[in-house]
Amino acid sequence: MLATQMRLMYVKFFEERGHKEIASASLIPDNDPSVLFTTAGMHPLVPYLLGERHPMGKRLVSVQKCIRTDDIEEVGDGFHHTYFEMLGNWSLGDYFKEESIQMSFTFLTDVVGIPIHKLAVTVFEGHEKIPKDTEAYAIWKRIGLGDDQIYYYGMKENWWGPAGETGPCGPDTEIFYDIGTDFCGDDCGPACNCGKFVEIWNNVFMQYNRLPDGSFVMLEQKNVDTGMSLERILTIFNHMESNYETDLFAPIIQSIENLTGTALSKANEREYRIIADHMRAVTFILGDNKRINPSNTGQGYILRRLIRRVIRLIKMMGVPENILPQIAEVIISIYAPVYPELSANRDYIHRELEKELSLFVRTLEHGLKVAEKVFFSLMKGDCLEGETIFRLFDTFGFPPEFTEELAKEKGISVDIEGFRTLLTLHQEKSRSAAQGLFKGGLADHSGQTAKLHTATHLLHSALRRVLGDDVFQRGSNINAERLRFDFSFDRKMTENELNQVSKIVNQAISEGLDIVCDEMPVEEALDSGAIGVFETRYDEVVKVYSIGDYSREICGGPHATNTSELRSFKILKEESSSSGVRRIKAVVG
Ligand code: ATP
Ligand code: MG
Repeated sequence: MLATQMRLMYVKFFEERGHKEIASASLIPDNDPSVLFTTAGMHPLVPYLLGERHPMGKRLVSVQKCIRTDDIEEVGDGFHHTYFEMLGNWSLGDYFKEESIQMSFTFLTDVVGIPIHKLAVTVFEGHEKIPKDTEAYAIWKRIGLGDDQIYYYGMKENWWGPAGETGPCGPDTEIFYDIGTDFCGDDCGPACNCGKFVEIWNNVFMQYNRLPDGSFVMLEQKNVDTGMSLERILTIFNHMESNYETDLFAPIIQSIENLTGTALSKANEREYRIIADHMRAVTFILGDNKRINPSNTGQGYILRRLIRRVIRLIKMMGVPENILPQIAEVIISIYAPVYPELSANRDYIHRELEKELSLFVRTLEHGLKVAEKVFFSLMKGDCLEGETIFRLFDTFGFPPEFTEELAKEKGISVDIEGFRTLLTLHQEKSRSAAQGLFKGGLADHSGQTAKLHTATHLLHSALRRVLGDDVFQRGSNINAERLRFDFSFDRKMTENELNQVSKIVNQAISEGLDIVCDEMPVEEALDSGAIGVFETRYDEVVKVYSIGDYSREICGGPHATNTSELRSFKILKEESSSSGVRRIKAVVG
């Protein structure tokens, strides 16, 4: 079966059961400073999981583009990717455990055809303040799973959320596929990472609300949030051994074979998989309408790391040419029919890949000079310290594999263990920084962020009024202190233009206008002059927020109720964000 058929089959199955399809959101989350990328189908649905009404109803289904940077190190096995597509279905205060589990089971056994003995599931074993999920256990039993197929696990494995310190959270039940190898030992089960069990689907039951004092109360609106990897279910359907054999990957692997002139083998399998996986993530990040470019911060940094890792692997294989654009081209042709943004941004993808390659080559040349100096002071038989390898890598961007290679040529040994220790230390530091970022995030729907969000709409339309209709939003990021707004425009704004924009926004604030929300099909919204939509299906019902004659924009909210709540608006900074994209930081109050 082809991926296209699997996507359709999944969506149709849930449509037949009353779900409405919503489009994949961008890979770059809007108005959410807590994470760099969309990591799951639930991500764009957070306001609705928190209780806001969704215009499409209580049962939703989607195929969502996702990036998981936490899984980069896992890439190389058969089932983990940096980029993947998540098939998801949701109940917003509608069905709960019984129906959710039943539907997943029917899809897996009837539609995909998995024999029941190949399934294993996990349920929540309970924790201090929360009882065991005997309800989910009983449902699985009733459906026909044996006691030896149902496993109880704790908080770490079978509990989700809340996204911040407080909010909706609950137990989940995860469904695994047994690939048929023997149990690796006494404790082997779905939580074991020996490879016997592959997780297919995760059904989260949001039934509790965690309060600031750490206690849990039952939620009024109970939700179900599920997610399953398109790649994995396709592999299982086709009785393949890894996701790389499916039609989502096979042409990419083949192009790597052709371009390097070397066939896939056990010896190079891991490298080929990493190249294919990373190039797919890179193509999707560059191909996103938000126009991220390689840089040293945020999403741009992840992008840079992925591109450079691919270049490094290809160079290590002794291939002198820059084959990245050709690989990207194969990926565009696989995916463009489903994700047209990839062909729309094809030139941009190529331009940025070329630019990053020449920058990296310069970095390597410079790093090489520094490395040669280091080696000059060493004698044959000496050992290069881990700290020096780390400095070459961290300060000069010179990859440790290259240092190792140079050392080998000169008969010098290297303390790679020492380097790894330093690298882990460094990664832990940046990970805890990222988690700090996460805490502030998702659940923040405070009054201040709603006001800044409303200010973003006013700013967007004021920019279009002053600079012309070619201006449109490229990205937006709001935290409790300020708004940040990226828009397409290719030069610095003049003082005069900035003043005019500021004046229009403040005028709207002083008029004390109500922010009005209507729901309508997206086509009607666009006909009525509403702006602000990147990717939506044409039959989708959306929310349109209007602010007097100033602004009319498609958006999920939340917003202030009246512009007077914003009190005043001030632009702090206007600067370049990337080529053709400007960035404004502003505050209200
Ligand atoms: P795993 O234990 O396999 O890493 P997970 O527990 O991280 O999965 P969830 O966060 O529950 O997964 O995500 C829901 C579903 O998304 C999983 O059941 C799986 O099908 C899929 N998934 C998660 N991470 C990846 C990935 N890196 N590549 C492909 N699919 C993934
Ligand atoms: Mg899991």
